[in-house]
Amino acid sequence: MSNKEKIRIENATKVFRVYKREEEPEGAPVNNDSGQTRGKVPRGKIPRGLLPRRGMSSSTGGMFGKEREKKLSVTQSTLYALRNVSMEVDAGEVVLIIGPSGSGKSTLLRCINRLEDLTGGAIWIDGKCVTEEKTDIRQVREEVGMVFQSFNLFPHLSAIQNIALSPVVVRGMSKKEANRNARALLDRVGLGDKEHSYPAQLSGGQQQRVAIARALAMDPHVMLFDEPTSALDPEMIKEVLDVMLGLAEDGMTMLVVSHEMGFARAAARRVIFMDEGEIIEQGDPAKLFNNPDEERTQRFLRHIL
Ligand code: ADP
Ligand code: MG
Repeated sequence: MSNKEKIRIENATKVFRVYKREEEPEGAPVNNDSGQTRGKVPRGKIPRGLLPRRGMSSSTGGMFGKEREKKLSVTQSTLYALRNVSMEVDAGEVVLIIGPSGSGKSTLLRCINRLEDLTGGAIWIDGKCVTEEKTDIRQVREEVGMVFQSFNLFPHLSAIQNIALSPVVVRGMSKKEANRNARALLDRVGLGDKEHSYPAQLSGGQQQRVAIARALAMDPHVMLFDEPTSALDPEMIKEVLDVMLGLAEDGMTMLVVSHEMGFARAAARRVIFMDEGEIIEQGDPAKLFNNPDEERTQRFLRHIL
């Protein structure tokens, strides 16, 4: 392992069990060719809420009792959101992840900061395994800042309160120091005059910049961005991307899910294309966007470019 390496992901696999209540033909469990397995869930193991309720009108036309129970059953399918994903990100590197909806991009980021747990494989940050059972999840979240598509600011807190909250609550920082840092961060994202504004009083672009400042307040080693501009009106995209470009120039290690080609060309050293939970190909932005090797990458790029 090189000492420049910040993030190392080895064979990350994430399986979701998906339950569906449906009319099920009699017979054995079915395997389909996308690798999903389906099977009847034993009655005792059906998650609550999926059990047919008594007297409920169902898609089979409101049958009751035994007849309905026989025809309506709960099936379980296994969905590979991530399948043996391996990659490394060096210190100060900006890596862009692209791929169609449902390809596992968010799941990958969520597993890095432990919003989800991997089913298999492991992730290291600064040489420390963050996916072990015994790892302190709170510490992982302190080291890994995450910015979501939907800002997720606390609506009842002002901009500065949103930013200063975690350092005080989680880090035990004094309120005074946390506020001083928060003001500096608001300046850094170009919102020095908005410290007392509440999220509802801010534009989407401004809210997202507060969200970035809030993540930075914990002094993270790594920043993850999950489609940070895709909920924004076009005229606000640039102000958020500019903040991210500034971070990249300051040497922050960043993993960014985005389809903003301008940002990719300006900031990303590497682009990774994912599909169906797998890394299909990766390379420098110019090569991957202009001359991808894989047919699936070509097809995807034709859709978005
Ligand atoms: P992307 O961010 O690339 O659009 P996601 O990582 O959100 O994709 O999802 C990957 C796959 O995992 C999708 O098929 C999605 O439906 C599924 N998935 C994500 N989260 C869950 C969950 N909590 N339960 C079941 N399936 C999920
Ligand atoms: Mg996503």
